[in-house]
Amino acid sequence: MSGDELSAWLKESRPDRIEELFQKAYEVKVAEVGRKVFFRGIVEFSSHCGKDCLYCGIRRSNRSAERFEMSDEEILECIAGAIEMEYGSVVLQAGERNDAAFTRRIEQLLQEIRRRHGGDIGITLSLGEQSEETYRRWYDAGANRYLLRIETSSKRLYRTLHPESHSYEERLSCFRRLRDLGYQAGTGVMIGFPGQTSEDLAEDILFFERENVDMIGMGPYIPHGQTPLGAEAPAVDSKERLLLALKMIALVRLQLPDVNIAATTALQALDPVGREKGLQAGANIIMPNITHTRYRKFYQLYDNKPCVDENAGMCRSCLNGRILSIGETVGYNERGDAPHFFRRMSSSDIVA
Ligand code: SAH
Ligand code: SF4
Repeated sequence: MSGDELSAWLKESRPDRIEELFQKAYEVKVAEVGRKVFFRGIVEFSSHCGKDCLYCGIRRSNRSAERFEMSDEEILECIAGAIEMEYGSVVLQAGERNDAAFTRRIEQLLQEIRRRHGGDIGITLSLGEQSEETYRRWYDAGANRYLLRIETSSKRLYRTLHPESHSYEERLSCFRRLRDLGYQAGTGVMIGFPGQTSEDLAEDILFFERENVDMIGMGPYIPHGQTPLGAEAPAVDSKERLLLALKMIALVRLQLPDVNIAATTALQALDPVGREKGLQAGANIIMPNITHTRYRKFYQLYDNKPCVDENAGMCRSCLNGRILSIGETVGYNERGDAPHFFRRMSSSDIVA
């Protein structure tokens, strides 16, 4: 589809046409990646962040955010729990830090995870912008996927979401670095933040295609009361934002058929069954929270974060039941890599 066609779909308001879009996307999903959902247990291990993104609740300048840092043993405990629950992949996410003590600690943690659990589990990192050397060291230590959302592919909008010191060009270079180092590379955007239009979102989808991404994690923008952007009205109300996010999933599935697409927690923040709706619109990945319950409420990127009082076992059984109820199954003990990654790697071998 062209940008115009994509934005026309994003503006579509007729329920029967929207239903048709979701059905088409679901058919493509079934043909390309099947009806199996893959879980990535996510540990949100630290709320210390050196950056100041204007939308995020744990931004450096938010003095009312309580900061926490899980110990290595606590993180390893969460990961062991995920493996016991038969999750094939885990994600380590936190605020961004670039100091040597931090990058070394992550390297050692990755080595320890590999030592304890072997090479079979997928390990994704979501730790922001880092040097090429750091990305390489983390890859060599055992990470095989990375999530770095571009947040918006528009340079103009990027400036409205970040202070001057944060660079769009640097973020994009980081994404390309990851992709070219051999990581399965994931990116994504926030949907419905102040000033964003359907045309901007259509451009985001064309950006994903151009950048040859393997994985997509996108979700609705959700205001956080103690942030500068949280004081402004989002582009559309919450019901419309949820619909827009579901349409984005469907359109990405149609445009990039063989990538992994996550039904993100932010969907659930707007609708208790938002993630299941995401699966029915074309997503195939869910990231159940495996962070120790006592820390969850301190990792508040946006208001009304769901499941902060639950534990990992509750998240598993709640999700398992809901997935079976929509006629899908869970790929327990499987990594669930994106088919696109293998196609990208084999075509780059041919070029090389
Ligand atoms: N520090 C890392 C990873 C943690 S933030 C990084 O920024 O890459 C992970 C994601 O949370 C961000 O990419 C952003 O898209 C999302 N996020 C932050 N604040 C949000 C908000 N108010 N609404 C929706 N998503 C938000
Ligand atoms: Fe830090 Fe990530 Fe939040 Fe930006 S989005 S302030 S980098 S945690």
